[in-house]
Amino acid sequence: MKRIALFPGSFDPFTKGHEDIVLRGLRLFDEVVIGIGNNATKKRYFTLDVMQELIERTFAREKNVRVVVYDDLTAHIAREIGATFLLRGLRNTTDFEYENGIAQVNRYIYSEIETVFLITSPHLAPISSSIIRDLHRYGQSVDDFLPYSLRELDKLNQS
Ligand code: ADP
Repeated sequence: MKRIALFPGSFDPFTKGHEDIVLRGLRLFDEVVIGIGNNATKKRYFTLDVMQELIERTFAREKNVRVVVYDDLTAHIAREIGATFLLRGLRNTTDFEYENGIAQVNRYIYSEIETVFLITSPHLAPISSSIIRDLHRYGQSVDDFLPYSLRELDKLNQS
């Protein structure tokens, strides 16, 4: 059976920290599906379609990576796409506290699902989407933290 992992997140924006988790996940799983959670009640900073496009471009050469957008419970979408693993990253104890709760709930909803946590690569540990949003909002360059060009992102964001 194909080992499919769903990597769920807001990815607002998708960062080099996220890219690292996907690439390392590819060594463990046959396919990694990046799931952009589109919670209709939460306003995004970067447009959903733009982010989907940029993530797809980032992994254009990886045939075992694809991107889906969903507005549902993560456990439901995992079941729907045949994923029996959830992939998540851990940077610190705050992440752990949060992830612990979500992982328990996901297994309650979908008993076959196992959440696999990858510890962040040390040089990427300080990267978070919220910090990047703050930097970008005030005009600070964030190129070093993203696996795609920001010019591309701004161009798509405005179109
Ligand atoms: P969410 O809104 O679901 O927390 P995020 O897009 O912020 O989604 O993050 C998705 C996953 O990526 C989470 O498991 C988060 O801990 C992990 N992650 C985010 N940044 C990093 C990083 N720099 N290194 C490792 N994992 C990370």
